[in-house]
Amino acid sequence: MNEEKILIVRCGEVALKGMNKPYFERMLAERIKKRLEKAGYASASVTRHEGLFFVRFDPSLDQMAVAREISKVFGVASISPAVEAESDMDSIGEEAVKFMLRLIEEKGVKTFKVEAKRADKQFPIQSPDIARQIGAKILIGCKVLKVDVHDPDVRIFVDVRHDQSYIYTDKIQGFGGLPLGTNGKGLVLLSGGIDSPVAAWMMAKRGMMLEAVHFHSYPYTSPRAQEKVEELAGIVASYCGSFRMHVINLLPIQEQIVRNCPEAETTIHVRRFMMKIAERIAKDCGAMMLITGENLGQVASQTAEALVVTDESVSLPVMRPLIAMDKVDIIEKAQEIGTFETSIEPYEDCCTVFLPKHPTTKPKLERIKASESVLDIDALVEAAVASQEIIQIRG
Ligand code: ATP
Ligand code: MG
Repeated sequence: MNEEKILIVRCGEVALKGMNKPYFERMLAERIKKRLEKAGYASASVTRHEGLFFVRFDPSLDQMAVAREISKVFGVASISPAVEAESDMDSIGEEAVKFMLRLIEEKGVKTFKVEAKRADKQFPIQSPDIARQIGAKILIGCKVLKVDVHDPDVRIFVDVRHDQSYIYTDKIQGFGGLPLGTNGKGLVLLSGGIDSPVAAWMMAKRGMMLEAVHFHSYPYTSPRAQEKVEELAGIVASYCGSFRMHVINLLPIQEQIVRNCPEAETTIHVRRFMMKIAERIAKDCGAMMLITGENLGQVASQTAEALVVTDESVSLPVMRPLIAMDKVDIIEKAQEIGTFETSIEPYEDCCTVFLPKHPTTKPKLERIKASESVLDIDALVEAAVASQEIIQIRG
């Protein structure tokens, strides 16, 4: 028996991907390996076997710390620190006793239950009997323990496979989703608010690579407001890796809108310009869709009517993963992924500059297009794109 530490990593939906399963599994193994390298665990090995991934590493490393890194990889459903045994009852029993002795020492465990699964149907003993026999060996080897099948301190899982068997207790939850890079690239419109970082994260979780665009209205918005967005982007990148953020001053366009269009329509015009600029950038950088943190009914520019008018400004599909979520649930997600505290820092957004007193909530497309037609839309979009600054966000 070698002395390496082992983690069993289970993939969620990746396991269901039919003909493409080898591709998804290869991508996931690569992502796990990359994440571990980046976290300083380059010596860890990642192997695939019978639908599971096994991460093996030096015993001097902290098993839980390595597990926590892996839990951030999209596509990972759960992780269990495990011990390995030869697939015979004596070896499994011996390792199970050692495993339990450690749990008694570390956690003061007093009661247990064994659950067994026989993935190898050639194995001569059936699952309930494996559980009973290993339970008996544990009772002999660990005199202080008692069996409790209803409410044990720990459940010991024994997974009997062809060449090796595995013993584990904890399951650390991953986020699920799909490995990054398996679903094209999207351009997220990233503000400093609560919503758009969550929207970006949700699309990345489904395997989409990201690129971002942020609009500011300097000098009406401060450099600190932009730093906040960079910080948020950095948190998103800690899950999905480094990406580029295009930063654009929207002020020249906002001034044109304020000067030439009805006040109540200001926001909807600004939204349409944001979309058009984003579409231009998306086409340049190979993004297949736009992503926003819009949410039905949240503000005047997110009524059903306003969203329809916003959508019409571009031909690329606009993904709005938060569209039907309640704010409390979005906040909960933001807290879970770690963006919330930064999002609520009180810095102004370009959308709050020139905010109309009574914004239209039911814009009519023909009306909006008519008032917009006095502007040289293409030239304004071109000038905005030409003045962009590109920042590398490091994951
Ligand atoms: P958020 O919490 O994401 O700021 P919000 O509820 O404040 O959302 P709006 O300000 O209307 O809503 O913005 C809706 C969406 O438009 C945002 O989720 C984001 O995708 C995009 N957006 C808004 N402001 C900006 C900006 N300054 N730069 C880039 N995208 C923006
Ligand atoms: Mg906002």
